[in-house]
Amino acid sequence: MTGKRLLVRGGQVYDHHGDVHKPKPADILIENGEIAAVGPNLNAPGAELIDARDRLVIPGLINAHYHSHDTLCRGLFEEQPLETWLLYTLPLGANRSKEEVRARTLVGALESIRCGITCVQDMLGLVPLDDANTDVVIQAYKDIGLRVVFSPMVWDVPPVAMVRNKDDLPKDVQEMLGATGRPIKDQVDYLEHQMRRHAVGGTLHWALAPFAPQRCTPVMLEACAELSAKHDLAIYTHVYETRGQRLIAQEQFGKYGHSLISYLDAHGLLNPRLNIVHSVWIARDEMDRMAKADAGIVLNHLSNMKLKSGIAPVCDLRDSGVRLGLGCDNCSGSDVQSVFQAMKMFCMLSAVSEPEPGQPLAHEVLRHATVGNARTAGLSGKLGEIKPGYKADLVLIDLNDVAYLPYNSAARQLVYTEAGRGVTTVIIDGKPVMRDRKVKTIDEDALRREVESLMRHFIADYDAIVESRKRALPYMLDAHRKMWAADVPMHRFVPRTRA
Ligand SMILES: [Zn+2]
Repeated sequence: MTGKRLLVRGGQVYDHHGDVHKPKPADILIENGEIAAVGPNLNAPGAELIDARDRLVIPGLINAHYHSHDTLCRGLFEEQPLETWLLYTLPLGANRSKEEVRARTLVGALESIRCGITCVQDMLGLVPLDDANTDVVIQAYKDIGLRVVFSPMVWDVPPVAMVRNKDDLPKDVQEMLGATGRPIKDQVDYLEHQMRRHAVGGTLHWALAPFAPQRCTPVMLEACAELSAKHDLAIYTHVYETRGQRLIAQEQFGKYGHSLISYLDAHGLLNPRLNIVHSVWIARDEMDRMAKADAGIVLNHLSNMKLKSGIAPVCDLRDSGVRLGLGCDNCSGSDVQSVFQAMKMFCMLSAVSEPEPGQPLAHEVLRHATVGNARTAGLSGKLGEIKPGYKADLVLIDLNDVAYLPYNSAARQLVYTEAGRGVTTVIIDGKPVMRDRKVKTIDEDALRREVESLMRHFIADYDAIVESRKRALPYMLDAHRKMWAADVPMHRFVPRTRA
């Protein structure tokens, strides 16, 4: 709604640098999609008014790791190892109808908005990588009004490389996981072509997503490094999600000091534009290198636990000073797009890993979920705070909700108590995409009917995939068990007291 003026009147405006427990009331004037002024009793004749009394106004939450390609899988799986999960989820995102691609994008976006997320990094597994598929996804985001850091995944080493000792698997099991690479040039050309067709602007941003170091040859990594430097694009890549990936580094990357961070570094990626996703099995010296390079880490506790990958070393990461972000990951791996859950998990896991009380966490994690996540996408100074000059991405939270009864601390109750129920109004790029809990940009009931109809076909495909992959299950479970039985030479999870 560029050009339109909006006045958000009388809310308690959350300021990372102010009183994070009882933010002061203020008005927010929005012009041309940006915050023009913040202060008491602003005068803005002709501006559309949003009454924010009894509301907490927070910077829009950002989800720094997400894949929209499998939102229709939510609820299909219980906890299971990543190795077996891969068998099912990879095909469920590929070669789908345009109607399904649009619907799945809208479902994830709708959930995000209802949960106070105003921007997602969509590390999309788009198969095939073509104009038509890309147009469908980008149009869906534009239609619903969610800001997206669009990052289709690229890789040239086949998916089976995600599994340790892949050569021990029978040939047909290797093929089930994916045993064919993809040409580098086609993918780099695709990215450049799409960035020209869909230029950055409004709610669309781009980033690069080489799938994972072990899924990319040095040539592919160097091509990504070059693109990143040329277009000043952030990079997101999965690193050390599982114990098996730590072992892969140990066993296959000896030339790089047994470190995937060294491998990324050797091929031009260890720099301030880099974000590694997960880092459950990162070593302490690697954290220090990341911190020194001003590279970032995006934590995804929810999927790490459900996929039996382990728990990221939150306290060591905090101590190392590496910059941190948070993600919610796939709907097939954690089933929810809720930064509230991700923030709470960050605090809870930090709390349980050390016997000694540490620093207060709630307002820190709110920074990670806003300014920290904005930084991952190279959007510092544009997203994550409510200040003049920032994009008008705001969320109004209902302080009459029982989560705030009694109301003692905005930061703590947002992190420990809020489940998303309090989100009433969401403004993105200056446009109210949800107002008083009613989504204004799409017909939610029509989407519900569309998904119901698509699911008949989707579930039939899912059942067929599960049936056809039964033979692979014992092999994948065996790979998972061997990985946990193998010795990982790392200092991890030793309770320690703070000096
Ligand atoms: Zn991921």
